Amino acid sequence: MSATDRLLYDLTGIERQYDALLRELPGTHIRFALKACPVDEVLHSLAARGSGFDAASPAEIEQALHAGAHPDRIHYGNTVKSDHDIAEAHRLGVRTFATDSVEDVTAIAAHAPRARVFCRLATSGEGALWGLNRKFGCAPDDAVRVLDAARAAGLVPAGLSVHVGSQQMTGEAWQQALDTLAGTLTALAGRGIVIDHVNLGGGLPALGYRDRHGTPLEPPLDKIFTVLREGMERLSALAAAPLDFVLEPGRHLVADHGVIRARVVRLTERAQPDGGRARWLYLSVGKFNGLYEMDQVTHPLVFPGREAEEHVPAVVAGPTCDSDDAYGGGRHTVRVPRSVRSGDPVWILSAGAYATSYTTQGFNGIRPLPCVCTRGGEGRPGRTTLT
Ligand SMILES: *Cc1c(COP(=O)(O)O)cnc(C)c1O
Repeated sequence: MSATDRLLYDLTGIERQYDALLRELPGTHIRFALKACPVDEVLHSLAARGSGFDAASPAEIEQALHAGAHPDRIHYGNTVKSDHDIAEAHRLGVRTFATDSVEDVTAIAAHAPRARVFCRLATSGEGALWGLNRKFGCAPDDAVRVLDAARAAGLVPAGLSVHVGSQQMTGEAWQQALDTLAGTLTALAGRGIVIDHVNLGGGLPALGYRDRHGTPLEPPLDKIFTVLREGMERLSALAAAPLDFVLEPGRHLVADHGVIRARVVRLTERAQPDGGRARWLYLSVGKFNGLYEMDQVTHPLVFPGREAEEHVPAVVAGPTCDSDDAYGGGRHTVRVPRSVRSGDPVWILSAGAYATSYTTQGFNGIRPLPCVCTRGGEGRPGRTTLT
């Protein structure tokens, strides 16, 4: 890492993204998923805008409270929690908990008596870059059983939730999830359980990512919003009582408003195992200090002052001694300026999601990137001279 390497957040951009999401899905309650960007200034500006938080541990709850959020706007969204964590969350004032098993319900009843619980339904994860299936959620029948058990244990069976997988690229995934929610809502009504909210989870995509070959991903955001609006209407019409809708965006609010300022380490050309030759471009930032997701997505790269020069295909990789520290697992190339030199600046765009939370402490002696929050895009590509 070079002394000038840093991760820059544009707070104004994040606030605008929050406002835009509320305009697209009016009346919804946004609970930002902290883990996508646990940076105090970012949380503070979202809380000041009225955002709540989806927290996954007592430490995240404390960070959300510290950012200025009222406990009523924080829920414990992790279905995985120890007795101690539940009691701690309750002590901190949180009264709404995600669940997906009878065992967890029993623990919540013991350590957070009379709390509100919402049951997470499983989804296939299809269409997402990171499907969050298997580990979380239950089938509709089990959800009815779990919420029934919650009621019997003195808890409030308050809602249902889904997460269709992170960077979900299809409207169909939400359509399927909404169908499952509708069926479950009806089954619950049959047992006399009337919930007050549906949590549509995270998964909304970032817009700036590219695929392994450098082609923009272009998620169908308008279609996704249409599916969500229609789905919410349908669920409201089905429900026996007014339904609130909660969203837990993570990536969508922050990804495109964080950029990494890095340096070129070196552009090389070497023989490859298949007998051919390939160029490799090593950067000062990679999988372990800000680009954890680089095997799935490629972030656009900007080499200031070299845009008009000849470009050549190169595998782009981070600086460490780990072979996974490369875009697309090191098997794909993108086009980079042929003339780049060691020490040249490079901007890595759409790098705001999951950058700090997935950073290691010192792999190969590489320290976490300093994080700088700015307003109105100061210090970003095109706005200032690079030093
Ligand atoms: C991680 C997570 C989110 C945020 O997911 P994104 O894909 O970043 O929007 C939302 N809800 C839960 C329960 C999560 O675990």
